[in-house]
Amino acid sequence: MKTILTLTLATVLGAVTIAGAEPLQVVCTLTDLGWLAEQVGGEDAEVAVLCPGEYDPHFLPARPSLARALGKADLLCYNGLDLEVGWLPVLLDKARNPRVRDGQPGCLDCSLALATVLEVPSGPVSRSQGDVHPQGNPHYLLDPRNGVRVAALMAERLGELRPEAAGRFRQRAADLAAALEPRIAAWHAAAEPVRAHPLVHYSKQWEYLADWLGLQLLGAVEHRPGISPSPRHVDELTGRARAAGVTELVAAPWNHLDAAAKAAERMGAALVVLPAAVGSQPGADGYPEMFEVIVARLVAAAGE
Ligand SMILES: [Zn+2]
Repeated sequence: MKTILTLTLATVLGAVTIAGAEPLQVVCTLTDLGWLAEQVGGEDAEVAVLCPGEYDPHFLPARPSLARALGKADLLCYNGLDLEVGWLPVLLDKARNPRVRDGQPGCLDCSLALATVLEVPSGPVSRSQGDVHPQGNPHYLLDPRNGVRVAALMAERLGELRPEAAGRFRQRAADLAAALEPRIAAWHAAAEPVRAHPLVHYSKQWEYLADWLGLQLLGAVEHRPGISPSPRHVDELTGRARAAGVTELVAAPWNHLDAAAKAAERMGAALVVLPAAVGSQPGADGYPEMFEVIVARLVAAAGE
């Protein structure tokens, strides 16, 4: 009787392993990464996201429910460049999941896909001073070309974790690149009117967007990331913005929008609040839709 039972169990377990039908459990820190992972993973992956789109990803509260999600993951995809350093290490400690520990195949730093990291500090930067960009600017997903690069990296890693589906992962990443590339060119062309005047931004969020679209960023109100600006800095930037004819002050939904509105008024510029992440504002519920909204809103404000 015991032998029969053992055999039956072995057959059942064997069937599950051979079919490989269970989707890989992918946990992404950010909504942008979650959207990309869903495209690449298709029916071979189930994707969960830790930081909701409307939260500033620098400062997510490390709730126990997030650690539980991480505990079940086969693959963790994170932004890197210290964007999640305030909460991801805490969650990883609580999750006690050896598959997604740093250095394991189930742990993917998506910034490894980048060709260039912007604003890498030339000297030492201390986080004790509050600076939250110690390894350079981490907001690279606001350049859609980087989204394409990250999707390709995800496909490779998913394929390593599930070799029998590697071809499908690679094909989906290639399809995504083919679908995004003409739109990336169209957004770039549509942004022409925005290139006529320099912009000011509230926090140092938009460098990659500006780099891609060829926009001039005159400076940030919050010029040291994560630290409230001094009145002297704001006065100085206001003077430069007025002299340069700045027409738009760009902010993320989680910035101090009262302060941003005051600064914009003093500069004689329009405050333009843009979706800085998928799901951070209505209408930006996918990665392409986010750029659709960003470009349309920048162009509309440039014409005012
Ligand atoms: Zn930042």
